[in-house]
Amino acid sequence: MTGNAARIQAVQNITNRQPMPVSKPDSLANLWASDVFTLSKMKESLPKEVFKSVKKTIETGEALDVSVADVVALAMKDWALSKGALYYAHVFYPLTNATAEKHDGFISVQSDGSVISEFGGKVLVQGEPDGSSFPNGGIRSTFEARGYTAWDVTSPAYIMTTDNGSTLCIPTVFVSWTGEALDKKTPLLRSNAAMNKAAKRVLSLLGNTEIAPVNSSCGAEQEYFLVDANFVNTRPDLLLSGRTLLGASPAKGQQFDDHYFGAIPERIQVYMQDVEEQLYRLGIPAKTRHNEVAPGQFEIAPFHEAANVATDHQQLIMTVLKNTAKKHGLVCLLHEKPFKGINGSGKHVNWSVGNATQGNLLDPGHTPHSNTQFLLFCGAVIRGVHKYGPLLRAAIASASNDHRLGANEAPPAIMSVYLGSQLDNVFEQISQGKITGSLNAGIMDLGISTLPTFNKDAGDRNRTSPFAFTGNRFEFRAVGSGQSVAGPLVSMNTLLADSLNWVADSLEDQLSKGKDLDSAILSTLKEIIDNHGAVVFSGNGYSAEWHKIAVEERGLANLKTAADALPVLKEKYIEELFDKLGVLSPVELASRFEIYAEQYILAIEVEAKLVVSMVKTGIYPAVLKYLSDLSSTLSSLKSNGIELDNSRLTLISEQLNSLTTTVDTLKSAIAQHDFESIEEHLQFSAKTIRPLMDEARSYADALESEVSDELWPFPTYQEMLFIK
Ligand code: ADP
Ligand code: MG
Repeated sequence: MTGNAARIQAVQNITNRQPMPVSKPDSLANLWASDVFTLSKMKESLPKEVFKSVKKTIETGEALDVSVADVVALAMKDWALSKGALYYAHVFYPLTNATAEKHDGFISVQSDGSVISEFGGKVLVQGEPDGSSFPNGGIRSTFEARGYTAWDVTSPAYIMTTDNGSTLCIPTVFVSWTGEALDKKTPLLRSNAAMNKAAKRVLSLLGNTEIAPVNSSCGAEQEYFLVDANFVNTRPDLLLSGRTLLGASPAKGQQFDDHYFGAIPERIQVYMQDVEEQLYRLGIPAKTRHNEVAPGQFEIAPFHEAANVATDHQQLIMTVLKNTAKKHGLVCLLHEKPFKGINGSGKHVNWSVGNATQGNLLDPGHTPHSNTQFLLFCGAVIRGVHKYGPLLRAAIASASNDHRLGANEAPPAIMSVYLGSQLDNVFEQISQGKITGSLNAGIMDLGISTLPTFNKDAGDRNRTSPFAFTGNRFEFRAVGSGQSVAGPLVSMNTLLADSLNWVADSLEDQLSKGKDLDSAILSTLKEIIDNHGAVVFSGNGYSAEWHKIAVEERGLANLKTAADALPVLKEKYIEELFDKLGVLSPVELASRFEIYAEQYILAIEVEAKLVVSMVKTGIYPAVLKYLSDLSSTLSSLKSNGIELDNSRLTLISEQLNSLTTTVDTLKSAIAQHDFESIEEHLQFSAKTIRPLMDEARSYADALESEVSDELWPFPTYQEMLFIK
């Protein structure tokens, strides 16, 4: 149902809505990881030797001893059956941002017709979904459909429950018959291995003797919108593309700043608590919740974890957010820009690297100037972001994220690094060739005797930077709310691996020439900051001045749209980077360009088609009806001797004409398919289709403010954002 009747019905449904029946939550101790096959559950159920072997693989990344798989499978099955599971699923992460699952029953029919539950090592370790329907970017033709999933021992298995059943879920990698990665997990694991290897080289040159495996960590802050399902169901654009393609701005938006960190509405808090309870069961450490800047916008952030596990958990968080919303009569929008004119949603990816012996390698301590280990790792990041900034931009490129980047609400599309005043100063000293000390952060004295004094942070926050150092980690803020965090993490780990190898080479070279370690470190750091300091920027990333300086004086790329950014994946230096570090082969990288480019083109095509149909079938008839009512009323008044100003009739007709002309042009633009190259098609989507959509929208939104509200067929911004 669409049209004005549906709109009225939606508002009535929401007004009469009964609150969800809720129960008091269980204790954290009972909830925590109760649906996860954790190390401690393995310890209880596995023979000592088997447990030791599995634990070693998880903790040190050592190859799994296949003979243990049967024993683990048995214990896993018993545990899953005790939780009521009848099925198991290999869960994998194809090159969309979604999660995919292949379900199989434990059931095995015996010769006498009876059934038993069966689950052996072989099916735990390897699955074989027909992969032909997943995007593969030319890696396989459909007749070579075979794809394999393989158990990722380092990410724990868990149970997903629905109201009447539960399924054992096993995180896996997804590869083609010929071994090429068709998923997001495989390169993530490879990038971590490359970073580990390079980090160990540097740590050992610094004189560390005991060096545990180095892992990357990720804590991702997820922003999202909640809209009542009654509205979404009557808006084809929200339903199919996740964002409103039309809709006039409401009188009140976010200008009062009254939503950010405001009291959370009861209905929403009940929803959040429901989400958190499920996450706790899944062993996902949900840690913060709050209202975000825009009305109807919220955030959830878990505590950080090992990047691979955090990435799987991030996918689960998105799934749980969406599924739970349905139960509460809401729709959770993970789109980067669901509503024009108010803030969009991002996913800040907090990232650091560290290990059990040296700790967090991005922790500067109180006196960063004397912490050369930290400076080398931090310097390596600076070098990497400078050299491979366009790769970071490409890793977050999508049709939906284009609306955020550079829109003065999210970081600009120019990749720069914010360090904060203390580190800026240390690197300035390095550039001068002599390190003397660290600026003191100082004590915050509030001047009120009853309030405690506390140590100030050494650096302020800079919300306009896409890549900011925030005390003991970097925060990549340009990532989109609906994206998998795997791509950004792969890029960060890989560029760091490359830089750490460069650092190790530089140190080795100087040491072999008889230089002492301290001077080798200083000159390595100096070379980094002299050659790559151009990427460090502490000012306002939104300013037009910065955009000019960044490009013209500092030589940084400003890749405004995904159409500009995605072709970076085809550049030789990017291909070499991934290839030499064993993260993605040239074929795998090329397939990613193809897939992401296709997704961009398709996403815009779907949106454009929606604009055409919403205008033709919804707005055009409504405006026509209004015009007809208006003109007959005006003429009947006139025949009674009352003459009203009829200029609105003309104005509305003109706007309607402009709208239909634009929509017709848009329709023929969508039909265009003869492009020389995929790059040309990308540009056409960005530079021709999108502007036509914007133009159509400007007429439609103007009409929305002219036409009788009684006739308007789609829920308005005011309704969607403020009625809950
Ligand atoms: P803010 O909104 O102030 O940036 P939040 O507390 O919302 O901060 O989120 C910060 C995120 O950063 C959390 O997920 C947190 O666990 C994560 N984080 C903290 N320290 C590290 C670290 N060393 N490495 C990776 N992530 C971290
Ligand atoms: Mg943050």
